[in-house]
Amino acid sequence: MTAWFLSLISLICLIAVHAYWRKKYILLLTKNTEFKGHEKHSRLVKDLGMTDIFDNMPEGILVTNSKRKIDFANPAFCKMFGLSENPSGKTVMEAIRIHQANELIDQLETKSSVTNEEFMLPNLDQRFLQSNGVAIRGKNGKNRGAILVFHDITRIKMLENHRQEFVANVSHELRTPLSIIKGYVETLIDAETNAESNTHKFLKKIENHSDRLTFLIEDILTLSQLESGGIALEQNHVNIYELTESIFDSLKEMAEKKGIHLKNQVAKEFVMMADNRRMFQALNNLIENGIKYGGKCVCVSSEINEEKIVICVQDDGPGIPVESCERIFERFYRVDKARSREIGGTGLGLSIVKHVTQLHNGTARVESSPGNGACFYLAFPNVKSENNRV
Ligand code: ADP
Repeated sequence: MTAWFLSLISLICLIAVHAYWRKKYILLLTKNTEFKGHEKHSRLVKDLGMTDIFDNMPEGILVTNSKRKIDFANPAFCKMFGLSENPSGKTVMEAIRIHQANELIDQLETKSSVTNEEFMLPNLDQRFLQSNGVAIRGKNGKNRGAILVFHDITRIKMLENHRQEFVANVSHELRTPLSIIKGYVETLIDAETNAESNTHKFLKKIENHSDRLTFLIEDILTLSQLESGGIALEQNHVNIYELTESIFDSLKEMAEKKGIHLKNQVAKEFVMMADNRRMFQALNNLIENGIKYGGKCVCVSSEINEEKIVICVQDDGPGIPVESCERIFERFYRVDKARSREIGGTGLGLSIVKHVTQLHNGTARVESSPGNGACFYLAFPNVKSENNRV
């Protein structure tokens, strides 16, 4: 009898505990998956114990609902956009009148997230913001709004501008004394009739090194112009076959010295919209590297389809280790520092290639493995097929 009574009590306790936890679980689920309007957003923020965190965050937080109205904006957001009152209930355009922010909300109606979108606030003190956002979707995939986080990157932008200005000014100031040194060295070499003398050898060394310094300064200046975005592309119809031929012509002597065969496999009628001078610079750097670091042959080829235009520069040299392929387009990155220094590179060639390609809305990449040569690909969108043709 006692056993039966104890079993009954245990059963009742179990049912009570189960009912209690089931209720809690359902409450938790609805709180975290359903976003229905301002009340619930605020409750969510409170429930999560995030109010203090959001209030004291330096990043601006904005939560909108399915009607594109603001449900929540933290104090940092209001400060960033100069709002004196809580913007809840207004649309983004009504509250802050920034088209780019409104476009982010537009994008999040179709995309699940947006990352690292940068824009400038159009007030006098020119503030730069970077934004990341995610879309809020209901159980049925229906759009229920968006959450955006804004970072003030004005200071980073300012420091980056100072760095670029500093590099550009220093390089510019170095040009004049260097060209004077080179002028005097050339005069002294001409005056030294004995080519076997130490004086002649030393002067030749000074000339070589001042040439290297000149190339380095020119590359730094080019890169700082490309990075600052201060270059306006002069887009024209560029025949890539003819461009390759002219680069081969300028590098003929270098290739002959190393016994390297240059092969142009680009279709003769291949024309694309590009800046001729910049494209020359990028392809020249790739072909020159193929000669410097390659084996017996450097081949340039091309491919065009509905979506893409691809130019490929391939060599049969020692290749690049796989772990270096990801870093090779970085400034001053070298696979073998001693070898590159001996050959006389600046370490900026591929970085210039990357920037020129990006300016043309393209991407640069390399495929290589040790012992199998290297293949550099420049891929561009085929925007207007009537302008780009084979
Ligand atoms: P550098 O002036 O040193 O040539 P780059 O930016 O042009 O600078 O190239 C970076 C590094 O990438 C080079 O130092 C070299 O180690 C490697 N590299 C570039 N092209 C090739 C290639 N075709 N084959 C093997 N290694 C290469």
